[in-house]
Amino acid sequence: AKEFGRNNLQVFTAEMAAKAHEKLQLQEALREAIARDEFILHFQPQMSLASGRIFAAEALLRWQHPQRGLISPATFIPLAEETGLIVPIGDWVLRAACRQAKAWQEAGLPPLIVSVNVSARQFRERNWAARVAAVLAETGLHARYLELELTESLIMQDLAGAIATMHELEAIGVHLAIDDFGTGYSSLSALKRFPVSRLKIDRSFVEDIPSDPDDEAITAGIISLAQKLGLRVIAEGVETEAQVEFLQKSGCDEIQGYFLSPPLSSRDFQALLQGCDAD
Ligand code: C2E
Ligand code: CA
Ligand code: CA
Ligand code: CA
Repeated sequence: AKEFGRNNLQVFTAEMAAKAHEKLQLQEALREAIARDEFILHFQPQMSLASGRIFAAEALLRWQHPQRGLISPATFIPLAEETGLIVPIGDWVLRAACRQAKAWQEAGLPPLIVSVNVSARQFRERNWAARVAAVLAETGLHARYLELELTESLIMQDLAGAIATMHELEAIGVHLAIDDFGTGYSSLSALKRFPVSRLKIDRSFVEDIPSDPDDEAITAGIISLAQKLGLRVIAEGVETEAQVEFLQKSGCDEIQGYFLSPPLSSRDFQALLQGCDAD
């Protein structure tokens, strides 16, 4: 029995060593990924329920790994955050998203807002708002076509600092949204102090509509709270017609999700927009 135990332990440590090695390899590859031009952005449309118009797109990062293929951000964003690589990667995302939005405008498409996810590490960089302004100047995109998505937990980690940076960003003219709303711990009184224009209702509430009455109540509650605070509200992860009906009935302003479209390559996104134009 003792022998067996030791073998087990050896297997276990070997497995752990392999995992650690794999993580290290991924980390090394991640470090090289920008220089090797392995990142791409996909874009997921956002639609106004009142007008049916696609008015914005969320930029979502993808990693085209030479051996492993397309890697989802859920796999490498946590590692990028842990290692600090999220800062240069986030800079790349911001620049690429602004450049793409500007290119679509120059191609004659109706101007869209591009929405970019921001990680806590990035947001806390010194003079971050000035860096955002520099990217806008460099790409020629007007600030009103950029939205930054911040999570509640990012804001709550350093409430006073976050509110100060949010005001700097507001002064530049970019829009701010709270992502994954309802999953964090921001108090309602804090929410009142955030200079944000939109709340994004987290997918976890939307996914069980209409079967879960609690999730329906939470979703309707967030929508009415947002309206009272003068904020717009978008539901993410909308997949079914029944969800759209519920959201419409509850006064939700906007939707994003597979019901409309999955995230698309920039070329497919442009084709989608041009298709809408032709209708
Ligand atoms: P998120 O910001 O909540 O983005 C929405 C995620 O939900 C995306 O996953 C999107 O593909 C997925 N999604 C959209 N509609 C539906 C739907 O109808 N049903 C379902 N089941 N899923 C839907 P994705 O692209 O895998 O991104 C995952 C997360 O990775 C994002 O969650 C965000 O937190 C992070 N992320 C992505 N790009 C970036 C980035 O450029 N910077 C940072 N810091 N984080 C990013
Ligand atoms: Ca997001
Ligand atoms: Ca989200
Ligand atoms: Ca749920």
